[in-house]
Amino acid sequence: MVASQVSQAHTGSNSSRLTIDLAAIRHNWRLLANKAGSASTGAVVKANAYGLGIETVIPALLKAGCRHFFVAHLSEAARVRALTTDAEIFVLNGFLPDTGPAYLTHRLIPGLGSLPEIEDWRSFVASHPEAQPAALHFDTGLNRLGLAPSDGVALARAHHEGTLGFPLRLIMSHFVEAEIEGSATTARQCAAFRNLRTLFKDIPASLCNSSGIFLRTDSLYDLVRPGYALYGGHPLWSSDVNPMRAVVRLESPIIQTRTIETGKAVGYGSFWTAKRPTRLATLSLGYADGLPRGSESTDAKIGGHVLIGGVKCAMLGRVSMDLLIVDATDAPEDAVHRGALATIIGDELTIDAVGDSAGTIGYDILVSLGSRFERLVIDGSDA
Ligand SMILES: *Cc1c(COP(=O)(O)O)cnc(C)c1O
Repeated sequence: MVASQVSQAHTGSNSSRLTIDLAAIRHNWRLLANKAGSASTGAVVKANAYGLGIETVIPALLKAGCRHFFVAHLSEAARVRALTTDAEIFVLNGFLPDTGPAYLTHRLIPGLGSLPEIEDWRSFVASHPEAQPAALHFDTGLNRLGLAPSDGVALARAHHEGTLGFPLRLIMSHFVEAEIEGSATTARQCAAFRNLRTLFKDIPASLCNSSGIFLRTDSLYDLVRPGYALYGGHPLWSSDVNPMRAVVRLESPIIQTRTIETGKAVGYGSFWTAKRPTRLATLSLGYADGLPRGSESTDAKIGGHVLIGGVKCAMLGRVSMDLLIVDATDAPEDAVHRGALATIIGDELTIDAVGDSAGTIGYDILVSLGSRFERLVIDGSDA
């Protein structure tokens, strides 16, 4: 079953329906693994697997063959561990001294990103030698999280002399703008990471996020860390064609329709005015469901769209907390009625397109997906 085949009848609920396609996630992971060649392919499942649900997504990734997971928070790591005994789980957002016991309980690998964190991990490991080896996270350009590359020499010496105090599993860094082809910043980061790699020759290395995997084969190293592309996001800004398969579809029921005259205003604050007699459809979805308020249309600009009966219909006026008004004038008559479904994400309305029309990015659309959707998980064929 493909997602587009489940969108006909609605269950009668006034909730919107989010369909998640596990076969598409597996397909995407395999496509990335194939691109990564001899490097291992992990999966970034932070922010509740980019809003799709850790418990939903991890079993599909395990089935595809993924054995390396990256999360931001300790609480996410514990949820991943509950689903797999043997996979490696890396925690990206640093180590805090009080959290050592949780690292032991769940067998987690800390991503150490500062000298104080290294110090804290060293003293924890001194009394808990059974802890997992650690990853060193270097900051090669983001200036956000990670060790200075200039600390690499001293750390590598400690590592080689056996005075670091703990074993290493990985050295890693993260790109600033891997989605932009030919970036000078990326070239500088690659050079800085190559130096680190030389210092820590015996330790596996990881540099690439989703976009990075498509960038250059000499930066793949030993392990890649895709997130967004697994969930269907477009990893390459330079290309119109997204190589990934769409994973999510979001549909929302029409709960009322009406026709207004030219000159009548729509929504809070009257920011959009009808330029023609307009057939309105009101959908059961709003910013409380993660639809950004930036998708609004005013008299000065058109914002986002939905699809009704396959026709693009503009969102009108402000996005309400629980409701959205759209222009259904040009949609097929038989698709505009109470209970019919409009597509919010799906087909040409990709997560990237939806993000773009709201003045944000597809990542933001995914992680903001609401908590009161009817969630339908489908598992099509792997073909
Ligand atoms: C979020 C994140 C990733 C995944 O990035 P995508 O662009 O979603 O593929 C990889 N590495 C680190 C350190 C991250 O924070």
